[in-house]
Order: sequence, then structure tokens, then C-alpha cells
Amino acid sequence: MQETQAILQQYWGHDNFRGSQSSIIESVLSGKDVLALMPTGGGKSICYQVPAMAQEGLCIVVSPLVALIQDQVNQLKNKGIKAIALTGGIPFDELNDLLDNCLYGNYKFLYLSPERLQQPLIQERIQEMNVNLIAIDEAHCISQWGNDFRPAYLQCAILKELVPQVPMIALTATATPRVVDDIVQNLKLSPVQIFKDSFSRSNIAFIVKRTEDKLFQLKNYMGKVPGSSIVYVRSRKMSVSLSKFLNENGFSAAHFHGGMTKSEKEDKLNLWLYGTIQTMVATNAFGMGVDKPDVRFVVHYQIPDSLESYYQEAGRAGRDGKPSVAMLLTSEEDKQRARQQFLAALPDVAFVKKVYSNLNNYFQVSYGELVMEPMAFKFNAFCKRYELEPNLAFNALRILDQNSVLSLSEQFQEKTTLQFVASKAAIFQYLEKYRKSAPIIQTVLRTYGGITDYETKIDLSLLHRKTGMRETQLKEIFQQLANDGIVNYHNQSSDLEIHFLVPREDDVTINVFAKKVKELNAVKQYNLEAMLGYIENNKECRSRYLLKYFGEDTHENCGTCDICTAKGKRTSPHQLEERILELLDLGPHSSRKLESATGADEKELLKALQFLLEDGKVQLNFKNEYVKK
Ligand code: ADP
Ligand code: MG
Repeated sequence: MQETQAILQQYWGHDNFRGSQSSIIESVLSGKDVLALMPTGGGKSICYQVPAMAQEGLCIVVSPLVALIQDQVNQLKNKGIKAIALTGGIPFDELNDLLDNCLYGNYKFLYLSPERLQQPLIQERIQEMNVNLIAIDEAHCISQWGNDFRPAYLQCAILKELVPQVPMIALTATATPRVVDDIVQNLKLSPVQIFKDSFSRSNIAFIVKRTEDKLFQLKNYMGKVPGSSIVYVRSRKMSVSLSKFLNENGFSAAHFHGGMTKSEKEDKLNLWLYGTIQTMVATNAFGMGVDKPDVRFVVHYQIPDSLESYYQEAGRAGRDGKPSVAMLLTSEEDKQRARQQFLAALPDVAFVKKVYSNLNNYFQVSYGELVMEPMAFKFNAFCKRYELEPNLAFNALRILDQNSVLSLSEQFQEKTTLQFVASKAAIFQYLEKYRKSAPIIQTVLRTYGGITDYETKIDLSLLHRKTGMRETQLKEIFQQLANDGIVNYHNQSSDLEIHFLVPREDDVTINVFAKKVKELNAVKQYNLEAMLGYIENNKECRSRYLLKYFGEDTHENCGTCDICTAKGKRTSPHQLEERILELLDLGPHSSRKLESATGADEKELLKALQFLLEDGKVQLNFKNEYVKK
């Protein structure tokens, strides 16, 4: 164990293991299979990375998303550890070379997507490798009871056949009993040791705030909780408009969603990480790489799709252990709306087939063909062309992604191509005539060698750095050059990228998992209902409720959630009316002012005011404020 601690110190710079990390590592090193259940941010990666470093050979890691894999591999590389990623879209030759590297190049980690495990070449090579550990990250993807079921994950079990003597560790932050059973069975973990760190986050006060004016309450609480915050919303549009609202009301906020460019995302993330911006208003695309310890406030402005997602997102508050708040703002209508929107966006098999066929037509893929290059497109334009409802269509794409027909990534990208078509003399003349454009033209010609012969892809941000000219200005100049017949110029933007993973076989491709679609939709409905159950709950401590959902029985109430605190200071309706009258003795009050002065629930307050109005004890003045009669 001393050695593992030295490794932790040397590569990660941490002095001590935390939670079950050291017991897990010990168990792995003794050759047992392990299932590690730890909340998000609990430090699961260390549990396989340290034992892999402590032994000869290489660790195979299966992880579901290309972006996750890339992120992990980059982090390891930054620590000077040799790691390799095999994701989609690598041509055969290159793949062969990469696998050779694993065999002879002293690599310590090989990250794979589960789809890769289906390839015979990879299976063969794995058998030749000196594997010291198999790690299945995000292992809940193997269970259809989880939120992110990916059938390809069932392939992970084959690793046990390929390298039978090697221990396997499965890691996840989903600990509902059904998922745990599925993981152990499907991965054939045996003999298995299950470690579970508590999911309890006792420094977070979980609050459900019912209100008919969410904007007002958002503003209100933002003012009360200083420090970094995140506001989660469900749509890109909402992230933009809500961030605008906060800025207009004196808070510093930025928006974040999947359709932004990579550099835009990085910029926004950094501004927020370093505290220049207080609040990030984000869709669930905001998650990876968010490892900020001092987030004080996480608000859910709309209802998330499951308690798993909710707990994970809310759990970004208070990683430093200091008191923090996770609040869900909700109106009466929200529940109904969530159900409707959610159910309306669950595609059936026929629709998935339609979208798949639309995609193939859009990209002109012929029957039996497997396109290797990534295909980028503008999602909204695609939906418009085929008259698809965007939410429904997006979920259909997600189903195709989950079932390994394609892999989907969201990101705004621009592809700009240029070719000089005028003669040298004409270009020269042009340079003379339009001196303003001259430095740009010269930079382009110098940077891109063959641009007078071929249509060439150019990098606008590179040109921006070289010339100091903004990208929009550059585009205007290129457009002008095109109008003047000097260049051919094309500019295409996209916000969604697809890698096809299997050849096009129309309905046959979909039939493979058609039966599952119905079941998966049922699970999604079940998950939403569990989420709504949490909101409707008005008796049980919120923390206990959440922990129970994750299979943890605690007997202590948190004392800080809305339910615990309301119990402490529950005022009878009569007391509330008395308190209101006392306040009105001091002068007129709006209902808002009364709400914050009494600390009462909005609904209860309005009820009390109604009584007082009916009893003729109070009345409204011309400013719509309450006054004593
Ligand atoms: P998970 O996969 O469980 O969500 P990660 O493995 O990504 O979590 O780790 C989350 C963060 O916790 C990382 O920044 C990691 O460096 C840090 N961390 C993990 N173990 C320790 C430890 N023993 N001491 C301090 N920090 C740790
Ligand atoms: Mg992780």
C-alpha cells in the first residue's frame, strides 16, 4: 500500500486516498473482481489507474463516450503517463499501428468504446497483450434500468473470455439495487467484492421551491446565495434567454450548451472556473470537466429527466464540503408540461426508421455502404428539410447512438474552403487595387501552399490569430473576393456530427433493437415519474429520500432541506395571519415583501391573504399592496 500511495503522490499530487479508494485498490491488486459504487466526483478513476500503474502491463478501460475517453486520455498524458484511445472512425491501417503500440510501446492504458470490442482484430490483439486490469467505467450503461443503457456494453463480458486471469473492476455512480444486480450478472463478476461509498452529501441543502413566478424566485435566491452557481435548463434557447435575464438583473452570467464551438465552450468554462462569471446557465451538456470545488448554488430551473441526472447535477454544488444549496424551482404547470413534452418526445420504432432513412438520404449513403468520415450537419436545417419535430428527431438520433448505429457529438463547427481561381496577374492587380485586403490575401497564400490549385480547408481562428482580423471580417473579405471572381469560397456551419458505425441496411439495421425501443421508453417514463415523485414528496427529508433511491438507508434527517426546516418552524395558518397583520401595522406590503418577511411558502401565504381579504381584515391599495382595513 505504501507503494500505491507513492504513486498517488507522484502522479496525482494527492497525499491520501479517500473513501474506499485504498480498500478497492488493495482488493484489485489481490486479483479479485470489484464493483465500486461512488458518487460523481468521488474519485473512481484513481481506483483503476493507481493499481494499473503499480503493476507491469497495461490496463484496458471501457468507457461509453468519445468525449469522456478523450478527456481521460488527455489527463493521463498531462501526467506523463502513456495512454491511447481507440474510438470510432479510425482507418484499419492506423488502428493496426495503434494496437502495435500497445503491444510494444510500454503503454499503460488502452481506452476503448464498447463498439470497438466487437471487432475481431481488436479481440485478437487484446489476447496478445500483457493486460494487468480491466476497468469498466460508467458500468451502469450495461443495465437497461439505468438512464444510459447502451446495449454494446453487454460486449464487455467478452473481455473475461479474452483475458480470463485478469481481474475486472466496474465503476459507477448509479447505485440503485436493480442496476447493481445487472452489472454483477452481465459482467459475470466473480468472486466479486462490492464497495460502496456513501452517496450522502450532508453539506448540501436540497430544496424544492414551488412558485408561480420562477424568474422572480431565481433572482431572489441568486441575491441571497453568494458565490459560484450553476442554473440547469433543458434547452439551448432557454440557456441563452435566462443568462440574458440574469445579466439584465445585475448578475454576471454566461450560457453553455452543446451547440457552441469548442473554443467558445472553453472560454466560457474558464471565465466561470476563475470566478470572472458567477453563474453558468447551462443544459446538461455542461458537466464534463466541471471539477470546481466551490460551487455554492445549483438551481434546476426545469425538471430533469431522472433522479440520477438530478443528483449528479445537483452534486456539483459544494465539492469542497462547505455548506451549499441545490434548489429545484418548479411551478404547478411544470410537472404537467414535463410529462407532456417528455412523452411527446419519445420516438417509436417507425419514427426511428424514418429518421435513419432521412439521414442516409441527406448524406447520400448508398445501401450497404459504411461512410468512414465524420458527417457534420446543421440539425435544425435537417429537421426542416424532412419536416421532423426537433425534440423527437434528436431523441431518435440518441437511440441510434445508444444502439451503436452511429455515434453522435454536439458541437458547433465551421468549415471554410477557399481556392484561388484568378490568374496570378489578376491576383496581383487585385492586391494593388484593394490594399485593405492585401495582407489577408498574402497571409492566406503563404499559409496554404496548394490553394491556387485545390479547394483548401482553411482555419479561420488561425487566420484571426495571424492577422488580428475578426472572423466575421475575414468572411466578408472572402465573400467579396468570391464576388470579384478571385476565389471560390464556401462556408458551411454545423452543430452536430455523426460517425456512422455500421453499413446502411435500412430497416434491418433498426430491427435488431426494435423490441428494445419500447422497453427503453418505458424505463424513461419510470425514471421521470421517480423524479416527479421527489418533487411531490412533502413529508420525507429530501436527502433521505434521495439516498433511499440510491439504495442507502439512513435514519438521520438532514435538518437543512425545505422539508426538515419547515418542520422546525411550521406556523399554523392562524399564526401566519397574525404575523401578516403585525407586518401590515408597519405599512403597506406587497405579497412578495410579505413572503420574504414571513418566510412562508408562497401558496400558504396567498391562502392566508385570501382569508384575510374575505374576512375584511385587509384590502388592496391602488399599488396592489396589502393594507390593514
Ligand atoms: P468520478 O469518476 O468518481 O466522478 P474522478 O475520478 O473524475 O471522479 O475524480 C474527481 C476528482 O477528485 C478529480 O479531480 C480527482 O483528481 C480528485 N481526487 C480523486 N481522488 C482523490 C484523493 N484521494 N485526494 C484528492 N483528490 C482526489
Ligand atoms: Mg469518472
